[in-house]
Amino acid sequence: MAKCPECGTEVDQTAKWIIEGKPDSNEERARLEIGMFNCPMCLKPFKKVLRRTRVDRTGAHLIKICGFLMQTKAYLFWRTL
Ligand SMILES: [Zn+2]
Repeated sequence: MAKCPECGTEVDQTAKWIIEGKPDSNEERARLEIGMFNCPMCLKPFKKVLRRTRVDRTGAHLIKICGFLMQTKAYLFWRTL
C-alpha cells in the first residue's frame, strides 16, 4: 500500500522490481525495491521506493537485515501470546 502523491488515496501495489546500482568506492551497491502503483482515482501510475538497502561484497548487511527480520518475527510472536 502507498499513498497517491496526487490525491492521497491508498493504492495497492501492482508490481514490484528490484534495481541494483553500480558498486561505489566502498565496493557497496545500493539495492532499491521499487513498487508500481496505479491510482484508481486519478488513473495515474506512480512509483515508490519500498526499501533501500546497501549490499557490500561480504554480504554483511544482508545478514544484519535477516537478523533484524528474525528479531521482528520473534517480537511479533511473543506479542500474540
Ligand atoms: Zn490519485
